[in-house]
Amino acid sequence: MTQSVMPTYARAPLSFVKGEGSWLMDDKGRRFLDMGAGIAVNILGHAHPDLVAVLHNQAENLWHTSNLYDVPNQQVLADKLVDATFADTVFFTNSGTEAMECAVKMARKFHYENGAPERVNIIAFNDSFHGRSLGMISAAGAEKLTKGFGPMLPGFIHVPFGDHAAVRGAIDENTAAILVEPVQGEGGIVPMPDHQLKELREICDENGILLILDEIQCGVGRTGKLFAHEWAGITPDIMAIAKGIGGGFPLGACLATTRAASGMVAGTHGSTYGGNPLATAVGSAVLDIVNTEGFLQNVNALAGTLRQALEGLVANHPKVFKSVRGTGLMIGVECVVPNMDVVNAGYDFEILTVPGGANVIRMLPALNITPEELTDAVARLDRVASKLEETL
Ligand SMILES: *Cc1c(COP(=O)(O)O)cnc(C)c1O
Repeated sequence: MTQSVMPTYARAPLSFVKGEGSWLMDDKGRRFLDMGAGIAVNILGHAHPDLVAVLHNQAENLWHTSNLYDVPNQQVLADKLVDATFADTVFFTNSGTEAMECAVKMARKFHYENGAPERVNIIAFNDSFHGRSLGMISAAGAEKLTKGFGPMLPGFIHVPFGDHAAVRGAIDENTAAILVEPVQGEGGIVPMPDHQLKELREICDENGILLILDEIQCGVGRTGKLFAHEWAGITPDIMAIAKGIGGGFPLGACLATTRAASGMVAGTHGSTYGGNPLATAVGSAVLDIVNTEGFLQNVNALAGTLRQALEGLVANHPKVFKSVRGTGLMIGVECVVPNMDVVNAGYDFEILTVPGGANVIRMLPALNITPEELTDAVARLDRVASKLEETL
């Protein structure tokens, strides 16, 4: 049979037609509790009334003009991101992958313009994920991403996550930057401890190289700070964001200091759609809400509720679950049974979770989910585990 949609995804047999807050309705009228939020994207839930209003209003006025002209909404959102972060300047993209591409180009151009054109290599970590372009599968390096797609882009060196002796050993006169996810997402929710992120910052400073953070999944309030690196008290030179910032509208951004971005002058980089009026209108509204007084405190309170309930769940079902890890509302539950068994059984109990590396199920709910919904989610997982135990 021919498949008009190219079959690159192993999709669940579910089709959703409507969303509301942390709930998704399918075409058969079933209501699912959404603990995946479109893979950490719908951070304000589905159909948030403020975002709907902003998008609607922008749609009635102007959709697209291109980056040949000023895009006022870009300026507004860039100013807000600069106010809220380490960054001095922002490049807008449509996706996380593109934000990462900008980050790597920027790091190389920085050294090129600073009289060290030989500094091209990026040190990255095993089990990381940075996107699906040729550049970003080269950056992550895992065979499951790269196999059959060679030749890979040169200039990426891979070391084990958290092995800083290996990082130091990999640095030489050709090194441009270190690239890391402060919390590995696809890799199975693996946070880098604060002291290790600090050490990476120090290693970069000692060696005159740049620190690039990929906060595409862990950024924009997900960990209970606006950005995950804030927990460690460090700042990067360059940071890629996406997912949460658009709240469900495709939007990414590459944030940087003036110094790191010094080579990115007119004509060096671009995107037809990047930062388009619709996307940046929504992004601005998302950021305003996340920056509302008390919003992140609430995320931390919710995270405590979820974490505690999940620890209880794991203790009650040692044949199904092994451990809980993560930060804020970015939680991984390591499974004993295959993680896909848990994800699939979840569909029978109308709960959506996301599989991750290291046999983990990911909990990445909307950041405005209620404590009652979190309790409900863990109760559903309890039933999922009991059902799976019957078959063990
Ligand atoms: C999702 C993700 C990407 C890729 O983002 P796309 O929007 O799919 O291009 C890159 N890095 C991390 C950490 C991600 O979670």
